[in-house]
Amino acid sequence: MIRRLADRILLIEGEKEGRYPHSHSLYIRDGGGILVDCGSDIGQILRLKEEEGLAAILMTHYHEDHFLFLSRFPDVEVWASEGDAPALESLDILLDWYGVAGTDKEPFFRDLFAGKFPYRPRTVARRLADRERVRIGKTEAVPIVAPGHTPGHLCLYFPSEGILFLADYDLTAFGPWYGDKPGGIEEFRRSAKMLAEIGASVNVVSHEAPVHEGSIAAKVEAYLSVIDRREESLREFLRRPRTGKEIVERRIVYGEGRPGAWFDYGEWALMEKHLERMVARGEVVVENDRYALISP
Ligand SMILES: [Zn+2]
Repeated sequence: MIRRLADRILLIEGEKEGRYPHSHSLYIRDGGGILVDCGSDIGQILRLKEEEGLAAILMTHYHEDHFLFLSRFPDVEVWASEGDAPALESLDILLDWYGVAGTDKEPFFRDLFAGKFPYRPRTVARRLADRERVRIGKTEAVPIVAPGHTPGHLCLYFPSEGILFLADYDLTAFGPWYGDKPGGIEEFRRSAKMLAEIGASVNVVSHEAPVHEGSIAAKVEAYLSVIDRREESLREFLRRPRTGKEIVERRIVYGEGRPGAWFDYGEWALMEKHLERMVARGEVVVENDRYALISP
């Protein structure tokens, strides 16, 4: 489905309401046609390309639910941030930044990026800098780098229209993702608060309900509180010493009934970020491959 957000800005709603493996896209009807992210709805993307043109695809970041259909457009220019470009240009870097290179999870991800999410390395033709003013025909867009989800995750602000595309700072009930190797909890928090402070009148996200009108300050607070709830559940679980495998199987993040390699990966990627800072704070110790709370 297509929703008109402004005269020259369309929202292409992702299949499955923009739930993984999909994500919503924007389409800018200016400058020859610019698509923002490529995981929404291939039928609509092809139709817009045919009817209105496709000069470039701007990638907010390098995750698979955003590049899902990118390999279908080998001749279209790709734009991205300086920070995220390396993972769009090299599968080895992508795997390294997912934190799976050289681990027992690498074959699973190589397979995923060969099949379900076809990855083709792309030269990033235009590297967008933080707060650079980008002219797309008559439309002005300001890329805003928001690290934490990925190192160079781009949001896109349209000052004349008052529209901010927050991409994967997505305000969903699931909560934030900060599990990539170059991702982090505190950076994610800072970025989300910075995005709320922009005060856009229309805020658009990549997953589930795409449009949030007015202030998102309270929604961002609720979204970030998921981080604290995850940490509290982990703290509770570590009242007895636990191995990494036990922590993964507890499914603190995804909940029970989510078996399989992908959820094992996601669970550990997020829990590891919490464990790292709990160890750094002296709250948790690692002994005999088990994590344990230090009693107060
Ligand atoms: Zn993402």
